[in-house]
Amino acid sequence: MSETIEFQAEARQLLQLMIHSIYSDKDVFLRELISNASDALDKLRMESYRDKDLGVDVSDLHVELRTDAENRTLTITDNGIGMSRDDVVSLIGTIAKSGTAETLSKLREAQASGSEEATAELIGQFGIGFYSSFMVADRVEMTTRRAGTDGGVHWESAGEGTYEISEVPDAPQGTSITVHLKAEDAEDNLHDYADPSVVRRIVKRYSDFITWPILLNPTGGTTVEGAEADEDGEAPEAGDEPINSRKALWARPRSEVSDEEYAEFYRHVSHDWQEPLETMRFTGEGTFEYQALLFLPSHAPMDLYYRDAKRGVQLYVKRVFVMEDCEALVPEYLRFVKGVVDAQDLSLNVSREILQQDRQIQLIRKRLVKRVLQTITAMRGENPEKYDTFWTECGRAFKEGLLSDQDNTQAILEASSFASTHDPEKLTTLADYVARMPEGQESIYYVTGDSRASVENSPHIEAFRAKGYEVLLLTDQVDDVWVGMVGSYGSGEDAKSFASIAQGDVDLADDAEKPEGFDDLLSWMTTELADDVSEVRLSTRLTTSPACLVGEVGAIPPQLEQMMRSMGQ
Ligand code: ADP
Ligand code: MG
Repeated sequence: MSETIEFQAEARQLLQLMIHSIYSDKDVFLRELISNASDALDKLRMESYRDKDLGVDVSDLHVELRTDAENRTLTITDNGIGMSRDDVVSLIGTIAKSGTAETLSKLREAQASGSEEATAELIGQFGIGFYSSFMVADRVEMTTRRAGTDGGVHWESAGEGTYEISEVPDAPQGTSITVHLKAEDAEDNLHDYADPSVVRRIVKRYSDFITWPILLNPTGGTTVEGAEADEDGEAPEAGDEPINSRKALWARPRSEVSDEEYAEFYRHVSHDWQEPLETMRFTGEGTFEYQALLFLPSHAPMDLYYRDAKRGVQLYVKRVFVMEDCEALVPEYLRFVKGVVDAQDLSLNVSREILQQDRQIQLIRKRLVKRVLQTITAMRGENPEKYDTFWTECGRAFKEGLLSDQDNTQAILEASSFASTHDPEKLTTLADYVARMPEGQESIYYVTGDSRASVENSPHIEAFRAKGYEVLLLTDQVDDVWVGMVGSYGSGEDAKSFASIAQGDVDLADDAEKPEGFDDLLSWMTTELADDVSEVRLSTRLTTSPACLVGEVGAIPPQLEQMMRSMGQ
């Protein structure tokens, strides 16, 4: 019995954009399907370690590609974890990612304004793997069966709003996806995906590093349909040898791996469509041996500022995939870091809970954090444009580290940048701020608020400007919290404390300049305004405004109060 089901609204919109997209490089659909197949094989192997009763043969896990020129199809098959009916409905029929609605509305705007570049970029942010098959197909079929369960599922759709789903009693375990190729691509020799040589080229380019064997039209099992015979009668592209070299990128000598290969690997581990901003490789030797290959993204992940944001890198043990999103290796404020850590001395069926306590993992994490902080700081010196991209996209998340990572506070401050009254366009480092401090200035002055415009016009700033003191303009919600916690920048004698220009009695004038004879007026005003303020003081911090409101030192700043309220506290 077949049932017709509607795609979730967001999924439908995204599919429409995909089908009619101007995305120029259609080849990437194959990369996405192979990436999913590879993930499914990883998951099955892990599952078989954890569940000895799964009863699945994991000795021959692989991906199989079959081209059929006659029927104009390409089929991608894996004998991985597979999906249940519920899995198919929720994983394929919906998009459950945080930030989807927001990104979709931006996408519609970009489309309406006809900006192809912005559209492509936004589509890329979804990392919409499976749906990309509709760029080349007018119909996609899928048969799948979850490992360890009985009945399989058949799924089919033309990508136009609905899909058909039915039961298949005798489906093989794993997933098989058949892409019915659009007729229009048949004429295009370079993009005829029913042509084995085209498929081979794409796999070489995009999926070479996949560690599972990828077979193209293997002779075993069913006969090779459509593979055109050579003069000598042999099917030229039929092969039982994998067409990918299967080498783990992080285990190959650095000089042998190209930027393009790193970029493809990054796309696989991050599910992102863009290039990475920065690639980091390092190893640990001695007692705890490990290799790490990490990336900074060139745009903020869609869910970066959502509570359920994914975090962590992939964990391997001696080249064997162990888990996705290993949180124990990456602190929350570095949740935009993606990549792989391959450790030598861990058990393969280690649990997430045990990892949190593991000494080796803690050491690797320490090293990883240091390395990322160094890389960000170095990037600012070597490639300011790259750094600016990083900072615009991920800076807000990064600064959360000032609240949670006491061991690295100074390194995080060092890697950070801030708006200041010194330059209306450019951000400053704290080191540069301190270098500009005039004689007599003891503290790093700052003001917090909602936007640069609002804090720049703040009456609190006037006297500081007049004195030639630079003021940091901190406008992210997180700024309010860390400035109160961090205390100072630098160490030892050179440490400079942070001082809010809107709190307490910032004394900018010499005593002699203080006007006298206002005591009666001030105590009268304090009594009259008792319901609203705790004290009325004479100030030397104003030059043109008659009065301003200041908070007490140590009081909760208004922005923080607001932030705590919006977080439901
Ligand atoms: P992503 O890979 O970024 O999660 P996709 O659209 O590529 O997004 O895939 C959506 C989900 O569908 C995957 O996360 C996975 O759970 C499931 N899926 C897709 N392809 C397969 C497959 N070959 N085997 C098992 N599950 C799959
Ligand atoms: Mg995918």
